[in-house]
Amino acid sequence: MIHRPVLPGATIGVLGSGQLGRMFALAAKRLGYRVHVYSPESDSPAGQVADVEIAAEYDDLEAIRAFVRRVDVVTFEFENVPAATAEAAAEFAPVRPSGLVLHVAQQRAREKGFLADKGFPVTPFAWIREESDLEAGFDLVGAPAVLKIASFGYDGKGQAKVHSTGEAVAVWERMGRAEAVLERHVPFEREVSTIVGRGLEGWVVSYPLIENTHARHILDTSTMPADVSPKIERRAAEIARGVVETLDVVGVLCVEFFLTAGGELLINELAPRPHNSGHLTIDASVTCQFEQQLRAVCGLPPGSTELLRPAAMANLLGDLWEEGEPDWAAACLLPGVNLHLYGKAHPRPGRKMGHLTALASTPEKARETVLRARAAL
Ligand code: AMP
Repeated sequence: MIHRPVLPGATIGVLGSGQLGRMFALAAKRLGYRVHVYSPESDSPAGQVADVEIAAEYDDLEAIRAFVRRVDVVTFEFENVPAATAEAAAEFAPVRPSGLVLHVAQQRAREKGFLADKGFPVTPFAWIREESDLEAGFDLVGAPAVLKIASFGYDGKGQAKVHSTGEAVAVWERMGRAEAVLERHVPFEREVSTIVGRGLEGWVVSYPLIENTHARHILDTSTMPADVSPKIERRAAEIARGVVETLDVVGVLCVEFFLTAGGELLINELAPRPHNSGHLTIDASVTCQFEQQLRAVCGLPPGSTELLRPAAMANLLGDLWEEGEPDWAAACLLPGVNLHLYGKAHPRPGRKMGHLTALASTPEKARETVLRARAAL
């Protein structure tokens, strides 16, 4: 099917208005688009830089319809947009990626089941719907395991490492007996991710592999390129391409992997949107992940994913504000370091407030520099 591209000057509607929407809006504005954002919040990170900010609930379908009538294409920065919302939006404008992608990625068990059915490598897991599933699940995945709530979990929220059926039952009770997955705890060597984009006409491009570290289950640092063999690099890109093609994604998607000591890549999770680990593409790549999302959903050709310089990113969480406003000038003093802040008024522990990116001659130097810059705050 031939689609007419949505060209600069047109209006993009974004569901969700956090930092991902903000960085998307900044990229879209640079290319001359107008951006309208929709979320229950006002003066949101994305709303501050968008042309129009609508504050209404996601289940207010009349407000959604009114929002979509004024835009040319709809995308989202937040995958927990309800299915009914995506459907109402699709009555008036194309929604990219489609509601199906949301449906699969919104629920861990569904996502893992989909990936396993299609032959992608995932961590062994069991779908937990009732208490007896926990015992059967342990038999399948073995101990230790990780119990994760199936919906609305993020940044390690709603998950715990468990060593026995008894412990799993107690944790599951605390999770309100909500649907969950029990996964094998993978003694991975490293965590890596691939950002991949797929256009309306089927082009697929991926960025070099990114190496990630987490603290308290929240992404802490990302470094690109990851220090892996060309074989692993190729394999990750091949899996990522397979995922976006199988899911018929139009947009950017992140595949998060565990890399085992034996060189095996297991998919931990998909994010059907630009991802925190890809923020360094803003400073380090010819075309950043947000512009790539824009090009994909607007039916434009792909942008180059070439890396200009090795880069590292460090997240800035609300914890940094514990002793008052961080010393921004100190971080800005280091050459090669860029500061990104999301315009959030209230720092809370664990809340993503911004990030730093450092560019250097090697990934190790970039990582050292970004950590030094963060320590200087
Ligand atoms: P998630 O919310 O699934 O992305 O998990 C957040 C982080 O918890 C991951 O990036 C890992 O560091 C850790 N984690 C999650 N699942 C597992 C697992 N099955 N085995 C080992 N570590 C895990």
